[in-house]
Amino acid sequence: MKNVIKRSWAEPYKMKMVELLKMTTPSQRKKALLEAGYNTFLLKSQDVYIDLLTDSGTAAMSDRQWAGMMMGDEAYAGSRNFYHLEEVVKNIYGYKYLIPTHQGRGAENILSKILIKKGDIIPGNMYFTTTRLHQELAGGKFEDIIIDEAHDPENEFLFKGNVDLNKLERLVKKYGAKKIPYVSIATSVNMAGGQPISMKNLKELRAFTKKMGIRIIHDMTRVAENAYFIQQREKGFANKPVKEIVKEICSYTDGATMSAKKDALVNIGGFLAINDWDVFEEARNMVVVYEGLHTYGGLAGRDMEAMAIGIGESVCDDHIRARVGQVIYLGEKMRGYEIPIVKPIGGHGIFVDAKKFLPHIPQNQFPAQTLAAEIYLDSGVRTMERGVVSAGRKANGENYYPKLELVRFTIPRRVYTQAHMDVIAESAASVYERRNKINGMKMVYEPKYLRFFQAKFERV
Ligand SMILES: *Cc1c(COP(=O)(O)O)cnc(C)c1O
Repeated sequence: MKNVIKRSWAEPYKMKMVELLKMTTPSQRKKALLEAGYNTFLLKSQDVYIDLLTDSGTAAMSDRQWAGMMMGDEAYAGSRNFYHLEEVVKNIYGYKYLIPTHQGRGAENILSKILIKKGDIIPGNMYFTTTRLHQELAGGKFEDIIIDEAHDPENEFLFKGNVDLNKLERLVKKYGAKKIPYVSIATSVNMAGGQPISMKNLKELRAFTKKMGIRIIHDMTRVAENAYFIQQREKGFANKPVKEIVKEICSYTDGATMSAKKDALVNIGGFLAINDWDVFEEARNMVVVYEGLHTYGGLAGRDMEAMAIGIGESVCDDHIRARVGQVIYLGEKMRGYEIPIVKPIGGHGIFVDAKKFLPHIPQNQFPAQTLAAEIYLDSGVRTMERGVVSAGRKANGENYYPKLELVRFTIPRRVYTQAHMDVIAESAASVYERRNKINGMKMVYEPKYLRFFQAKFERV
């Protein structure tokens, strides 16, 4: 008889050290949540059991990365770790010139200041909080050109990160190509639920922008996860290693901003990479003002070394299969409890549809914020709002009301076990069972920028 047992994904590593966690009681959690103004960002990490706030800077580094930390060359200028990182970025991603930055938004700031003039339009496949804010602070305006499917959490299209080229063409007609310094393309689109862009779509976008003389800037924070989905889902890529797919993706773009705190498996770091010498020269000038010398950009030598090694590990097929495999495991488990989640399951976390979960709470009473608070209360699992609070206000002061009102269960890389995933799903299911008894909230404190980080709430 033929063996038909399917082999499970499993981690290509084992544990060498563990971090002990505090288990809290319901009354401790109630107190902590009240003090945090029902904002999970304001909770103390020591009051959290399983921390799914973000996959940013929360990865477990490998023994090799830790060994790399010991090889930090902390010279002010010309650290050997910088040259190692430069070589890795060139070899793995294919970009010519590198500017290290303390994290992704450092690169976004510099790039936006260089490329955007007042009144410019920056089309992109869905906004990202820091990316759009830097575009706006530089005088530009973001325009969403992602396909409509991305705004529908029920739609199971496999490449919801794709660009609608008709939307882009209309913008070019309306404003002229000169007003569009670049198209901003994220791989594994965070705000859409970790949804990939296809290679085919990216190639078509490249052909169109080339004709128009418009650059493509790649938000490559989760490029490896996107490449994995291309390998699994797109015709012609099944036998290609993720590493090759990553390089091909980058080859259709002119430069990139990177938050290495995600895919690249480090706790801090990022960079700007660019193929254009003139932009590089200006960025090298500017990095000195905002980050640090161009050979460290706000990072210690050891951080750059850990990043260089992490990038190499991030594009290994075994790693990415287990990483995404764990996320899908959690998603399937939640679907088993009939919890409404964004489909298809994305690369870095599970996005629960708070509008569907709590249909009796109107969007101006923050259903996603409310749900994140309830999950914490139930189990000490910390998640994050990705809805009306995160979307912020327009220049005219009105709230953005995004179609997607989500709670993000973001899975840190190489940190939690399958049993943790079970507890998370069980907790979400418990809250789902008593969903009718949950009331919405009102915002009682609102900061001016990126309000989701520090806003405070009260129950209505
Ligand atoms: C995290 C993130 C950023 C910003 O990077 P930081 O390192 O947090 O400054 C930009 N784009 C995307 C898609 C991200 O997920």
